[in-house]
Amino acid sequence: MKGKVAVVTGAASGIGAATARRLSDAGASVVVVDVDSEGAQKIAAGLPGPALAVGADVSREEDVERYVQAALERFGRIDLHHLNAGITGPFVELPDLGADEFDHVMGVNLRGPFLGLRAAFRHYRERGTGGAIVLTASIASLRGSHDLLAYQTSKHGVLGLLRGAAMYGGPMGVRVNAVAPGLVPTGLFTAAKDASGGGNDMLQRGTTVPLRRTGTPDEIAAVVAFLLSDDAAYVHGEVVSADGGSAIVSTVRP
Ligand code: NAD
Repeated sequence: MKGKVAVVTGAASGIGAATARRLSDAGASVVVVDVDSEGAQKIAAGLPGPALAVGADVSREEDVERYVQAALERFGRIDLHHLNAGITGPFVELPDLGADEFDHVMGVNLRGPFLGLRAAFRHYRERGTGGAIVLTASIASLRGSHDLLAYQTSKHGVLGLLRGAAMYGGPMGVRVNAVAPGLVPTGLFTAAKDASGGGNDMLQRGTTVPLRRTGTPDEIAAVVAFLLSDDAAYVHGEVVSADGGSAIVSTVRP
């Protein structure tokens, strides 16, 4: 990763923060992007290598252009992207899901990575050399839940972005892959519990994890770092699950 410049979105906490740390440990310069600009500053300040924090909402075109510009001004190039920022949205059953709530989740989880991919590819096209991109999908990209429609729809959509971007990027030497985490206790976990009035016990959902435990942000970041590295030079358009085996288990409505 030495000499590489990496952008990580949603990097003020959880999985994104762990990726930022891993890439920095491996020698990359890291652009820490998050809507929580104070949190982004804190993470950037704690990294061992060169880092830049940018407060940006990934669902806004002007913010995405601004973080790319800031990265180019500071480091002159971008080689790697982890398009990771995401929210869960409400845990409600289909008849009770608000249209605005649905749109909001799509905005962050789907429009966000679309804008991030578009900005990345505009840069790669202009530069004429390759790079690597990892999208954060989810176990919810692969399975259904009775009360998480907006989130799982957005994360299924991430696989559409992945495959389209991989088809476009392959011939120009840009690799695009996705990581699909299972249950990882992060801020998103707490938000999910709060959004359901405390009724949604994520650990209860974890009872079907074959490895019998939740994952850690660093266990997901390890997969992201591998996919961004030259060790994964022939891995392209792939969804790699890091979920303790959850994807192979079927669940039923309680
Ligand atoms: P997290 O809440 O700790 O981190 C998400 C980060 O994204 C936060 O720092 C938040 O401020 C930022 N963010 C939210 N909206 C944003 C926006 N509009 N623009 C910029 N930044 C924004 O949660 P996490 O678990 O680390 O989530 C990271 C990714 O992993 C998400 O895409 C999530 O869907 C995915 N994921 C998480 C789990 C899990 O169990 N934690 C499982 C599968 C997938």
